[in-house]
Amino acid sequence: MAEIIDGKAISAQIKDECKEKVAKLKAEGKEVCLAVIQVGNDPASSVYVGNKKKACEYIGAKSLAYELKEETTNEELLELIDKLNNDDSVNGILVQLPLPKHLNEDEVLKRINPDKDVDGFHPVNVGRLSIGEKGFVSCTPAGIIQLLKRSNVDIEGKECVVIGRSNIVGKPMAILMLRENATVTICHSRTKDLKEVTKRADILIVAIGKPKMIDASYVKEGAVVIDVGIHRVDPNSKKLCGDVDYDSVEPIASKITPVPGGVGPMTIAMLMNNLVNSVE
Ligand code: NAD
Repeated sequence: MAEIIDGKAISAQIKDECKEKVAKLKAEGKEVCLAVIQVGNDPASSVYVGNKKKACEYIGAKSLAYELKEETTNEELLELIDKLNNDDSVNGILVQLPLPKHLNEDEVLKRINPDKDVDGFHPVNVGRLSIGEKGFVSCTPAGIIQLLKRSNVDIEGKECVVIGRSNIVGKPMAILMLRENATVTICHSRTKDLKEVTKRADILIVAIGKPKMIDASYVKEGAVVIDVGIHRVDPNSKKLCGDVDYDSVEPIASKITPVPGGVGPMTIAMLMNNLVNSVE
C-alpha cells in the first residue's frame, strides 16, 4: 500500500504561504498583479482562466482579465503584451494556451518580458533554468518538486526516470531533478525497452499523455510514482484518470500521486508562487 501524496493539501499550504507574503508586501506598499490574456472562448480555457482569477483573489493579488475576441490579430495581441510589459503595476503576464490557430504562439510567448513570464515558458527563463540561474520555472514541474520535498522524499543521489520530453513538463522536470542531485534519465516515444529503464527508477515521473499506460510492470517495488497525466476516463464521464494505472501501481509503490488531487492542483499554486516571487 502506497502513501498518497496529497496535492490538494500541499497546494493549499503553498497558497496560504503566498497569501501571507502578499499581505507583507501590501504592508510595504507593494501590490501584486497578474494579467491574464485569453483569446476566444474555448470552454476548457475559460475554466482554467477562472481558476487563476480565483487563486489570485484568494492570495490577495489583483488580476486583470483580457478576454479578446477569437478574430484578434497577432499584431493586436503583441501590442497588448507590449503595453503590459511597460506597465509597472503589472508583475506577471500569462497568455492562456492554446491560442487560436491563426496566431503565432511562439512569437507571442517570446514577446512577454522574461521578468514577467510567470508561466516560465520564455526561452530566457528556460535558459536560466538550464544553467542554474534564478528565473521563473514552468509551474507543473516546479510543483512536482514541492510535492516530493514536502512529502519527505529524498531526491539526492536517487535514480529518477522522467517519461516525456515536452518543453513544459518533461524537459524542465528532468533539469529540476538534476538540480536536486538526482541521477536523471529521460524516456520518450522512441525509447527502446521502456520498461527496462523505468524499472530502475526510485522516482518515476510520468508525463506522456496516454491514459493508464504505466502499470505495475513498469515500476520497481517501493518506487515513488508521480502521475502528471489528466484524462477523462471516457468522453461522457466526469471521472478522471492519469497516465498511470493507479489500481495496478498503488500496491507496489511506496508513495504515489492520485488523479485528481495529485499534480493537478500544484500548477496554479506554483503560478501564484511565481507571481509573488516576481514582486519579492
Ligand atoms: P506532450 O504530448 O507534449 O508530450 C508527451 C511526451 O510523452 C512526449 O515527449 C512523447 O515523446 C512522450 N511519449 C508519448 N508516447 C510515449 C510512449 N508510448 N512511450 C514513451 N514516451 C511517450 O504532453 P505534455 O504537455 O508533457 O503533458 C503530458 C500529460 O500531462 C498530459 O496528459 C497532460 O494533460 C498532462 N499535463 C498535466 C498538467 C497538470 O497540471 N497536471 C500540466 C501539463 C500537462
